Amino acid sequence: MKILLIEDEPDLGAIIKTNLSHHQYVVDWVADGRAGWEYLTLDPTTYSLAIIDWMLPKMSGIELCQRLRAEKYTLPILMLTAKDRMEDKITGLDAGADDYLVKPFGMAELRARLRALQRRIPTFQPDKLQLGNLQLDYGNNAIAITSLAGIEQSVSLTVKEFQLLEYLMQHPDRTLTHDQIRNRIWSLDSESASNVVAAQIRLLRKKLAEFGYENAIETVRGFGYRLNSIHL
Ligand code: CA
Repeated sequence: MKILLIEDEPDLGAIIKTNLSHHQYVVDWVADGRAGWEYLTLDPTTYSLAIIDWMLPKMSGIELCQRLRAEKYTLPILMLTAKDRMEDKITGLDAGADDYLVKPFGMAELRARLRALQRRIPTFQPDKLQLGNLQLDYGNNAIAITSLAGIEQSVSLTVKEFQLLEYLMQHPDRTLTHDQIRNRIWSLDSESASNVVAAQIRLLRKKLAEFGYENAIETVRGFGYRLNSIHL
């Protein structure tokens, strides 16, 4: 799951990004409202959720929220703010924020709020994601695979394998481009090599092949990859 964090306080931004990155999220971080608008609207499928600070340079968090909702962007938004008066909270929610967190807050609370917001995303399933004989297990970073012979086994995945498979399973039978996969699985500042997508696909294919699903991930030449549900 990829999140855009829009926060202009360097220390807080760094803490949030680091903490969430250790909990399976991929986080891009920008420090002003206008950059936030550009990132969120360039390709609306990139981010599943936005964390937006109230007070931001160039465009305030409130204005950003209002603009997104006015343009029919539906992604869940968590507002961060130092304000905790009731009328401020109402202003934030009226602007289109889904939830509201008052600074200072603990990272455990932030993650709990994010989990609550994730449940509103149509494709999100809180514990497990099933496609054919594959079942992603969010609690254990693993996948339960029922082989063609009918034997179920749990296979542990690396963070990147898990995120890649989750993305593919959320968009079965659809070709996802190299760029889409790269933008979704890696943050923009990560120094990933150009063949990093192909390398991760290779690792994942190898794991699936052990259970007879070597044809599940199809290479669409010059374009990207497709997870074919018919082979699962
Ligand atoms: Ca601020």
